[in-house]
Amino acid sequence: MSKNYLDSSAIDVVSFSGGTGADGKRMRKRLAGIHCPCCGIKMLTPADIKKALILPPDSPSKEVIPVLKKYSNQLHEVEKSTLQLLEVLSNKYPEKNLRELFDAVRSENLISLYKDELKIIDRIKAVGSFLSEESKKKLDATLISAEDLIINGNYDSTFKRRAFIGKIGDVVYTLCEKDAADTIFEIAHEMPRAGNNRSAFIVKFSEKNPATGLERNSHDIIKAMMMPSLGTVEHVRAKSPLVKNGGGSNEMHNYIVECSRDNNMRDCMPFREFVKKHPQFYGENIQRYIDAIIEKLNHGELKGFENYPLQISRTLRRQSKGKIKLDISALNIPCNENIQKMPK
Ligand SMILES: [Zn+2]
Repeated sequence: MSKNYLDSSAIDVVSFSGGTGADGKRMRKRLAGIHCPCCGIKMLTPADIKKALILPPDSPSKEVIPVLKKYSNQLHEVEKSTLQLLEVLSNKYPEKNLRELFDAVRSENLISLYKDELKIIDRIKAVGSFLSEESKKKLDATLISAEDLIINGNYDSTFKRRAFIGKIGDVVYTLCEKDAADTIFEIAHEMPRAGNNRSAFIVKFSEKNPATGLERNSHDIIKAMMMPSLGTVEHVRAKSPLVKNGGGSNEMHNYIVECSRDNNMRDCMPFREFVKKHPQFYGENIQRYIDAIIEKLNHGELKGFENYPLQISRTLRRQSKGKIKLDISALNIPCNENIQKMPK
């Protein structure tokens, strides 16, 4: 085996432990291997990602795929399906590296991505057909230029999802038909991206990174597949300069460890709004999360976390306006801190 090609700071930079203080760092380290309280996947640790990057980026896929397959069940849907495709391609071209395998199927995925993008444009057009002539004119100009970029775009001038959503946002802001405007904006957000569409993932990672100007290599592909499953620290009461008093505190009773994708998706959305929007996320998965922690505590593990089940159950109940009620009755060790001081 060769040396690990990833220096540890490369993971810390992209993880979500920043801004959570010592408690947050400790939690992430101790809890990151358990199941995500939102989506339920078994979360990856930075050590897992380092292990997956142990081979150099130009290694043949026949050597890299067996390393990655160990984590297959911990990947999100698109990433898992990408790994399955890579395995099929690797059986055909075992000497190619992951980036070369992506290059081999880029053109067919580009076509598939175009089709998916055009379907979104058609759905927006269908809603737009009910608008007044003046509103329709404004919308059509944006849709026509998007279609042109999708069909005729080249490397220097290509369709960009984020820019498209921005332009649609500018248009709908000016429309008088508010319901239609909201629907159009929601549909625009369904434009494929690497996190929800395998073709978009393959197309993105068979191109240069626009930020660095460097070609993406196999390590970039591996990181992109694994990072969404990385355990990260989330503030239940969001911390943000935009929220009153800066939002939630940097203390254990305000933390849950969840996968990077869910953390990213919530952003600074108030917790009760997020729960309302994604009720499935906090159903049995959050109970499974606390059960796993309680089991460890009952076995004498996780020293210093003894108060956490009670504290976090109160925080979650309060922040979800009573929607999340955790059962912590299985905990058979005493809470030993000034826990009564915590608001119920
Ligand atoms: Zn998750």
